[in-house]
Amino acid sequence: MKNLFEHTSAYWAKYASYEWRKAADGKEYLLPTDDAKASVYNTMPLADQLVLDAVNIGLLVMHKSPERKIKAAIYTFVCNYGLLGMMTALPTTANFVEYEKVYLPKNQFIRQETMDTLTYMKFFFPFKMPDFRKRGIESVWNVSGSDRDEAALALTFGDEPRSKAISFMRSYGEPYEWMKEVFLDWAFTFMSAFMYYHNQDVLDKHTRDMYRRGLACFEGNAPTYHLALREHPVIVWDFHSLMLTLKFLFSVKLMDTKNPMRLCEHCGKAFYAPRTDSRYCSAGCRNGMSKKP
Ligand SMILES: [Zn+2]
Repeated sequence: MKNLFEHTSAYWAKYASYEWRKAADGKEYLLPTDDAKASVYNTMPLADQLVLDAVNIGLLVMHKSPERKIKAAIYTFVCNYGLLGMMTALPTTANFVEYEKVYLPKNQFIRQETMDTLTYMKFFFPFKMPDFRKRGIESVWNVSGSDRDEAALALTFGDEPRSKAISFMRSYGEPYEWMKEVFLDWAFTFMSAFMYYHNQDVLDKHTRDMYRRGLACFEGNAPTYHLALREHPVIVWDFHSLMLTLKFLFSVKLMDTKNPMRLCEHCGKAFYAPRTDSRYCSAGCRNGMSKKP
């Protein structure tokens, strides 16, 4: 079987700086700052680190670390990789702006199965809605030329579903509580898989079933793909959001038996084991030198 990712490139955008802002509903959102420059990058060469960083944030949440520590970790993550693109990742299709209504598979954030497209978008534009109008399935999005970064991103991603470029607008933000949940989900899945194999000999049936169920909870949208004729026919994955990219890369990493993701017995962080029996993430942790978090 040929490597399915051979020709994959998944571009995403990030701003140079972000800030937490509290909206009228009392929720805190992370948004790009007013004058931060935007840049575009390919997530694929960073896949390993991206997955590890995401799982380690989830582990902080899981271990009930202090709020300021979790917030700082999410902030650093977003400065490195950009926001998750949840607005595009949650609905059944990334093309949701072309429909009158948004359809949502079961998720822990929004109860309703369908909702008006603009009402849905408001979840991610707590301060200022984009200049986006809809009448039935017709929609018009005016990208103002005054923000050159936004305009350049709209152009760069012009061939993809519009929700992607809309999620790169400066007024687009993601709620802290929701991001925390997303990271926690990944850490939970990782722990279920890790513990299942790690303690296989000593686990009773009940615990094994619990981990199996833990892994089965990992559901939601899967990315679609299309075919393209390059030097030969290739599969092109349609991720359209960092969240789906990550989810998929994470799943692939979980299957890795050569350098599996493991939990360091000293510091409790996830790491890629150079050998299958590695127990510590670094020499410092092996000698008990590094500080426990
Ligand atoms: Zn360690």
